[in-house]
Amino acid sequence: MIAASPFTALGLRPEIVRAVVEEGYTIPTPIQDKVLSEVLAARDVIACAQTGTGKTAAFVLPLLERLAESKKPRGPVRVLILTPTRELATQIAERIAAYGRYTGARHAIVFGGVNQRRQEQALSYSPEILVACPGRLLDLMHQGIVRLNQVEHLVLDESDRMLDMGFVPDVRRICSVLPKERQTLLFSATMPPGVASLARAMLTNPAEVTVTPPATTAPTIEQSVVFVSKADRRVLLERILADSKVLRAIIFTATKRGANRLAEQLSRAGIESAAIHGDKSQNARDRALNAFRNGEQRVLIATDVASRGIDVDGISHVINFDLPNTPESYVHRIGRTGRAGATGEAISFCDPGERSLLTQIERLIRQRLPVNKSMPSVPAEAHSDAAPQPMREQRPHGYEQRPQRAPGQDRGQPAPRHPHAPSGGRPAHFQPKKRSDSRSYS
Ligand code: AMP
Repeated sequence: MIAASPFTALGLRPEIVRAVVEEGYTIPTPIQDKVLSEVLAARDVIACAQTGTGKTAAFVLPLLERLAESKKPRGPVRVLILTPTRELATQIAERIAAYGRYTGARHAIVFGGVNQRRQEQALSYSPEILVACPGRLLDLMHQGIVRLNQVEHLVLDESDRMLDMGFVPDVRRICSVLPKERQTLLFSATMPPGVASLARAMLTNPAEVTVTPPATTAPTIEQSVVFVSKADRRVLLERILADSKVLRAIIFTATKRGANRLAEQLSRAGIESAAIHGDKSQNARDRALNAFRNGEQRVLIATDVASRGIDVDGISHVINFDLPNTPESYVHRIGRTGRAGATGEAISFCDPGERSLLTQIERLIRQRLPVNKSMPSVPAEAHSDAAPQPMREQRPHGYEQRPQRAPGQDRGQPAPRHPHAPSGGRPAHFQPKKRSDSRSYS
C-alpha cells in the first residue's frame, strides 16, 4: 500500500507516506502533485490554487522529507512557516504533527494573545519547524529567545496577506535575519498584482505553480447573491438559518461590533451562535472555533479574521451578511465551504449601497453571481421600510459573464463537473467526506 502509493512515486519516504495514507489520502491533489517535486528539487515556489485543495500538505510533506533527508544534527529552527492568524498557525501545526508523526520532526508554534511562557518552553526543545504569526515572533526574536540564523526553508502561507501593507513591515524585519541562501515558498488562493511583484522579488528563479488562475473559486461551491436591504437582512438570515439543510454555517460581518450585535440579535430570536473576531481574547476565539468544529454550535459569526485557511469539515453554508471590502476576501470567505471535494453553498447579501463591491468581486472571480431565487420571504411586518423584497436585480455591465451553473442546469441539479473529476462533481483526488464529520481537520 505504501510502496504503491502515488505519494511514494513523488519522492516521499515510507514514514511520511504511511502518515498520509492513515489520513485517508490516496491521490495527491493537483497542487500537491505539482509542488512536491519542485520543493524536493530545492526550488523556490510561488503557488496559487483554489481554497480547500490541499495547499498545507503541498508544502508540509516535502519539507518533512527534506528535513529527514538532511543528516544535520538537531538544534536550530530550519523551517519557518509564517501565517496571518493564530487559528491558521494552530491548524498548520496540527497538520505537521499528523503528517510528521513517524519522522520525529519537532515543531513549535508561536503567536500573540496568549502567555508567552509555554511557547518559550516549546522553543527550548529545539524544534526544527516553527509555525509563527509575525508579531509574537518578532517579540521573541528581540528577547533573544528564538534565533533564525539557520533557517533553510521559509513558507509564507496566505502570502498575499503576509505581503500586504498590514504585515509586510514585520515580514521584512523577520526576513532580514534569515540566511540569504534559503528556499522560499509562497502559497495563496489569491494574488493581487501589486503583491505578486513584491512576492516575486523575494524569490530566486521560482517555479510558478498555478493550478487555476488566482481567485478562481472552487466549483464545489454554489454561489449566489440576494439583493436585500440592510434593514431586512437580519430577518432573512434568521429564515435561512431555520432551514434544516443549513447544517453548519459561517456568517461574515464587516465589523467586530457588527458580529457581536448579530450574535445577540440571533440569540434573542432563539438561534445560538459563537462569535470570533479580533477583539475577543485568544481563549474566547479558541472556545468559539472549537464549539463550531465539534458541532456544539451550528452557527459561527466571524469577521475576516476567520476568512482565511480555516478548515472545518461540514460547513454547508457561508453567508456574507456584509459584503467584504476587498474582493479577495470574498474568495477566502466562501472557501470555508466546498473543501476537499465536498459541496457547499455561499450566499451573499447585497444592499443597494454595496453594488460596487459586488461588481469588484464579480470582476475578480471572473463570473457573475446568480441571483438566489429560493430565498424565504421576509414578512411585511419585519420590513422597516416599504422596500419590495427580494429586490429586483439591476446589474452593472461591462465585464465577462460566466454563469456558475452549466447551461440548462437549474438549482436542483448538481454543480458542474470539477475539472479534475473523472465523473460527477467530486474531484478524483478527494475521498468523500461526510457532512456530519466534525473532526477539526481531516
Ligand atoms: P488545505 O487546503 O491544506 O486546508 O486542505 C483542505 C482539506 O483537504 C483538508 O481537510 C485536508 O485534510 C484535505 N486534503 C489535503 N490533501 C488531501 C488529499 N491528497 N486527499 C484527500 N484530502 C486531502
